[in-house]
Amino acid sequence: MNTPMEKLVKLHDKSFRLYKSESEILSAVRNVAGQINDDYIGKRPLLVPVLNGSFLFAADLLKELKLDCELSFIKVVSYHGTSSNGSPNMLIGLNQNIEGRHIIIIEDIVDTGNTLARILPELRAQNPASIKVATLLFKPLALKADVPVDYIGMEIPNDFIVGYGLDYDGLGRNLRDVYQVVPE
Ligand code: 5GP
Ligand code: MG
Repeated sequence: MNTPMEKLVKLHDKSFRLYKSESEILSAVRNVAGQINDDYIGKRPLLVPVLNGSFLFAADLLKELKLDCELSFIKVVSYHGTSSNGSPNMLIGLNQNIEGRHIIIIEDIVDTGNTLARILPELRAQNPASIKVATLLFKPLALKADVPVDYIGMEIPNDFIVGYGLDYDGLGRNLRDVYQVVPE
């Protein structure tokens, strides 16, 4: 008897197998949007997606929001200064005043939480009215930093995934489904 062909993609040197279909992802996105719609009635949140990985999640999430909302992308970039001390990366892109605003950070995936741990203090220092975090994917077993994750699309195991905005060394962001690495 033939078994159905597994949906595999090859990116660089690794193979990935289908893990979450586009329809499962979009239903998780609608679920997060529904919670935000309920929680921000009468408010005008500023959504702050973290580039690059979150661009598709941000786009689909925004289409499901029924509230007045604004959007401002940020990026955490590594830089190599001349001094070895100091912060290894910096936050760019947030060039508007967030004092008194309701901020929702939009992440593609929270893994160790280090990215959020870098972003949150810098935003908190600007006195927003509130900050919450929405992530499409969350790896609870990988979390190291003490960061809040308020809205979660899906919890996943500690395996490397690609697709729906997430890349493996630059490739795979355009895949509509999410794929999990096949161990060698
Ligand atoms: P953190 O460890 O700081 O929570 O996650 C940092 C970033 O690493 C995420 O925003 C994401 O861009 C990337 N990342 C973490 N886990 C994965 C994964 O399984 N696949 C891909 N493609 N990127 C990941
Ligand atoms: Mg990210």
